[in-house]
Amino acid sequence: MSISDSSRPRFLLLFVDGVGLAPAVETNPFATVPTPALAAALGGALTLERIGAIPGGGLSALDATLGVPGLPQSATGQTALFTGENAPALLGRHVAALPGPRLAALLADHSVLKRARAAGHAVTFANPFTPAYFAEVEAGRRRHSATTLAALASGAPFRDADDLRAGRAVPWDVTGAFFKAFEANVEERLPEAAGRSLARLAGGLRLTLWETFMTDLAGHGRREWTPEEALARLDGLLAGLLADLPNDVTLLLTSDHGNLEERHHTSHTRNPVPLLALGPEAPAFATLTRIDEIAPKILERLGPRQRSLSETRRS
Ligand SMILES: [Zn+2]
Repeated sequence: MSISDSSRPRFLLLFVDGVGLAPAVETNPFATVPTPALAAALGGALTLERIGAIPGGGLSALDATLGVPGLPQSATGQTALFTGENAPALLGRHVAALPGPRLAALLADHSVLKRARAAGHAVTFANPFTPAYFAEVEAGRRRHSATTLAALASGAPFRDADDLRAGRAVPWDVTGAFFKAFEANVEERLPEAAGRSLARLAGGLRLTLWETFMTDLAGHGRREWTPEEALARLDGLLAGLLADLPNDVTLLLTSDHGNLEERHHTSHTRNPVPLLALGPEAPAFATLTRIDEIAPKILERLGPRQRSLSETRRS
């Protein structure tokens, strides 16, 4: 029996930088800052106590240290997340911030977006970018993040200000306030509206990736991002998203390392990170234990694209 393409799953992967799972104590913003959308989905706050709270999927805890001593970091953690390769073990250490040549090569070869697209699936990186950003990289004044490299490897077109204006993109700060500083004629949006845009986008593709790092900035104690502000925007986005997400889309929310869940210091943690899986494919993700298992599982569940009957007849 063959599976028709219309029954294939769709995934929306929300990569939320710097979010670990910790107990519901007063130093954990996830336990103290109101997050009604998360609470409605989980039956409580995004803390260790909610693991296994939803039967057949829901919340699990993933190891982000990958057997390597020291604090997990963004370049290696994100590479592990988006390639399924144990990047910190390959390099022998956790690498902070932006990938160097070895991690960039790993992302170019093994990006989950690249492999999903090569298998015939429509993929996108939902974050918008400006021409000025690419010009800065071209001029050697900045480097791509692991997420951006994973998206570039796919060859799928990047989203821009026009997509943002048309509700076909969501910036990392959710509302677009940051993006507006670089692009004229961009309206700020409420987090709920941004979430609804993301839901609509994910409904038309097989794999949609969205990235935010406001949570990691808040965890590092950056003045412009309090835990309250970061969580209000994230939860508002989830409210709009969960209200409008088509029922064939499985939402996967995860992170590269802990940080924000311990507000009494400003460094990363070795805590597990959440994998919140909601939707028809959630049970397939309930048994994962490490962040480098997510990409292979997504690819396994997507499978090769099935050819339509007309394509089969032509060949
Ligand atoms: Zn960080």
